[in-house]
Amino acid sequence: MKREFRTLLAEKNRKDLPKVLLAASECAPLSKTGGLGDVVGALPKALQPLGVETRVITPYHRCIKEKYASQVEHLFYIYVDLGWRHEYAGLEKLVVDGVTVYLVDSEFFFGDSIYRGGLAEGEQYCFFTRAVLDALPLLDFAPDIIQCNDWHTSMIPFLARTQYPGGMQEKIKYLLTIHNIAFQGRFDFSFVQDLLGVDPKYYTPEVLELYGCADFMKAGIAFADKISTVSPTYAEEIKTPEYSDCLGQILSDRSADLSGILNGIDTEVFNPAKDQHIAAHYTSRSYATGKAKCKRALQKRLGLPQKKDVPIISMVTRMTEQKGFDLILEALDSILERENCQFVLLGSGDSRYETAMLYKALRYYGHVSVTIGYDDALSHQIYAGSDFLLMPSRFEPCGLSQLIAMRYGCLPIVRVTGGLKDTVIPWQCETGEGNGFAFRDYNAQEMEECVYDVLDVYSDPAAMDKLVRNAMEADFSFERSAEKYVRLYISMLEKKASGRKK
Ligand code: ADP
Repeated sequence: MKREFRTLLAEKNRKDLPKVLLAASECAPLSKTGGLGDVVGALPKALQPLGVETRVITPYHRCIKEKYASQVEHLFYIYVDLGWRHEYAGLEKLVVDGVTVYLVDSEFFFGDSIYRGGLAEGEQYCFFTRAVLDALPLLDFAPDIIQCNDWHTSMIPFLARTQYPGGMQEKIKYLLTIHNIAFQGRFDFSFVQDLLGVDPKYYTPEVLELYGCADFMKAGIAFADKISTVSPTYAEEIKTPEYSDCLGQILSDRSADLSGILNGIDTEVFNPAKDQHIAAHYTSRSYATGKAKCKRALQKRLGLPQKKDVPIISMVTRMTEQKGFDLILEALDSILERENCQFVLLGSGDSRYETAMLYKALRYYGHVSVTIGYDDALSHQIYAGSDFLLMPSRFEPCGLSQLIAMRYGCLPIVRVTGGLKDTVIPWQCETGEGNGFAFRDYNAQEMEECVYDVLDVYSDPAAMDKLVRNAMEADFSFERSAEKYVRLYISMLEKKASGRKK
């Protein structure tokens, strides 16, 4: 911890440090579909040693019920008004790894999937938003700040300030963290008005309206006291038309309140020296034997030839356009026909990509393995057993997969965008610097050339050794980011901080 920061904490009486409630649709290890869940799980753990009490409120999804029901304490229940309906919302409490998590229970809204899609998902999270706001005064915790995450919780500041005059909800400070601006929660205004009783005077281009829809993310940006996103580069990108998905102007208007704080990973969960999912343990000082065993075990599990010297290039990802699947589909044949390598994919998403990739696995039997689905253990085995992780993203707010990969000595090959730009330092053989590889334009040929360069480096053991050590020794723990969040929280409680709409 830097001395200057230690002084700041010491100056604050411990009881003056902000209390923070994180509101989120998912929270690892309870529920997770991607990076958002990882961050919501890791941030409170990293904040606690700094004296910032942080709790989480999240839906009581069935996947949580199945595993943790016996450890959950029932606190109380309320009835939440949602349009003409009067819906039960149970409030349960669970302590996981020392972090208190409040769970909003509703068999009706959180019975099956975390995200139901379409209007059903809108309903799920309108319910959650209302339940959070109505339950707040009854909780055994009075937060100074609520940190909302993405559109699923971004209506919280808007409703707090427009529908709870004089209540504690109105007085709390709100931070909106944007994990991915491509998902904004756009619905017909009549739907939103019906469910949340929104006054039509807010359905304007300054607040809620965007291209004839009510946009939840926009309302959050307009009403939060501060806005953060998950990497410095993405904080700049989302102010531009190319990356902002129509919210660039409002974000530029709020530029003074917008910051980018790089995500980190939970280095206990992702630790090749202790990981229970992998075939052998290893560290940056002694990785060769352990990583070789993990590679063999991965090849065996996936039915690939167990060849030590054939490089494995992997992907662990949602299968969407964002993640660069158009480039993969265009370039994979040429790569596999020219190079002797193995390609491993674990993911799920758009059916057009799933089908196309399954076809590649058939066509390049023995060279390509495709697993459709979500499998935490296999993901760890892939990071540990692979040589390279490919992330040719069209855009990437932060990206956690490349950070996890580096921790396991699996070198990232990325497109220079967002958090990938902020975390992957391209290899420079002259200086021995770098922890991965990068290409600039969203273009299949550039990606292909980059992969060929990477495979040349693979045949140079000294270069590979330096790269693997650089990657494994890089510090991507959440501690660094936690310090930046504490500074941001403290600034929010200073009187002059608020630049939000009234
Ligand atoms: P995003 O949040 O955009 O999906 P990130 O790189 O930020 O991407 O985070 C992805 C996280 O989800 C990583 O922890 C990655 O290992 C995990 N993940 C993605 N797809 C799968 C999958 N199919 N099975 C297991 N873990 C996955």
